[in-house]
Amino acid sequence: MGLPKKLTLAHLPTPIEKLERLSATLGKELYLKRDDFTGMELSGNKVRKLEFALQEALEQGAKVLITCGGLQSNHARATAVAARKLGLDCHLVLRGRPQGPDHGNLLLDQLLGCTFTFMEPEDFNDGHLQVMATLKAAYDEKGTPAYLLPMGASNAIGTFGYAAAYEEIRLQEDTLEAPFDTIVCAVGSGGTHAGLVLGNMLGGSRHRVVGVPIAEDSRLFRPIVTQLTTECLDRVAPGTPLPSEKISFLDGYGGRGYALNTPEEMTFIRRIARDEGVFLDPVYTGKAFRGLVTEIEENTGFFADSQRILFVHTGGLYGLFPKSPEFLF
Ligand SMILES: *Cc1c(COP(=O)(O)O)cnc(C)c1O
Repeated sequence: MGLPKKLTLAHLPTPIEKLERLSATLGKELYLKRDDFTGMELSGNKVRKLEFALQEALEQGAKVLITCGGLQSNHARATAVAARKLGLDCHLVLRGRPQGPDHGNLLLDQLLGCTFTFMEPEDFNDGHLQVMATLKAAYDEKGTPAYLLPMGASNAIGTFGYAAAYEEIRLQEDTLEAPFDTIVCAVGSGGTHAGLVLGNMLGGSRHRVVGVPIAEDSRLFRPIVTQLTTECLDRVAPGTPLPSEKISFLDGYGGRGYALNTPEEMTFIRRIARDEGVFLDPVYTGKAFRGLVTEIEENTGFFADSQRILFVHTGGLYGLFPKSPEFLF
């Protein structure tokens, strides 16, 4: 397909597993792409994007990686791990301030010896890009070239990670008894969804690719995912049109907003653990997979034409631990 060059950081290919009991209950075949198995330290979807972005960082001679995210950001932790694996330093600009002892991803960021800039949430929203640019200028000035990664590594270069994941899925599909008709993923910063859409288009559009926003809805994300897909298409297949129906969203499952949960979401995570022995995360996969299952259970028709559905488990396990008080057992 002619994707850009990349590093090897993830454990690939990740397995595809059928959810036996849920499939029987719902009357559709449900499978998981286990991208929570991309590694232990590098667990989750961000490492696929980092393989492409950090190839670029090394080519540019970077010595320190600067990125941003929520206090418990999986992307920040994955970037910090990748930095250490490549012998680089990592500076994280995080939304919020640590309260009490560190846990989850933030504990791991501390173990990895990151440098931190903590920002109040109000300041972060409007100011983190400026803060990151100022930090980069200061590192560059000191003779320590810095490489900036956006939120979730969702820029064009990172997005290729999920075009490559799509190719991996296609190869695995050939070993299964029948192909999938639908692929579903969570949408947080848009790169995973955009990469799958791109891969699908470059591979002949055999699938319906559905993104489930885990905060806000498609009014925010459609322009973002369209822009990312277009930028990537311009690089590898210039002139390819991008009809809007290639990008499908399932709205209504963002709940209380980013990294906030409802009791229904926590109960759903517990249900899937007990039914299938699979841990979903509270920020992304718990919401998105709940959207998929709820639409089928409530017969809304959204998945009426989908019989074999692959949900991409994008990871996030470490995000469960800071949420322990919200599980009511
Ligand atoms: C970041 C993340 C997502 C969302 O992926 P985007 O490419 O940012 O939309 C989904 N699941 C997990 C566990 C994540 O960490």
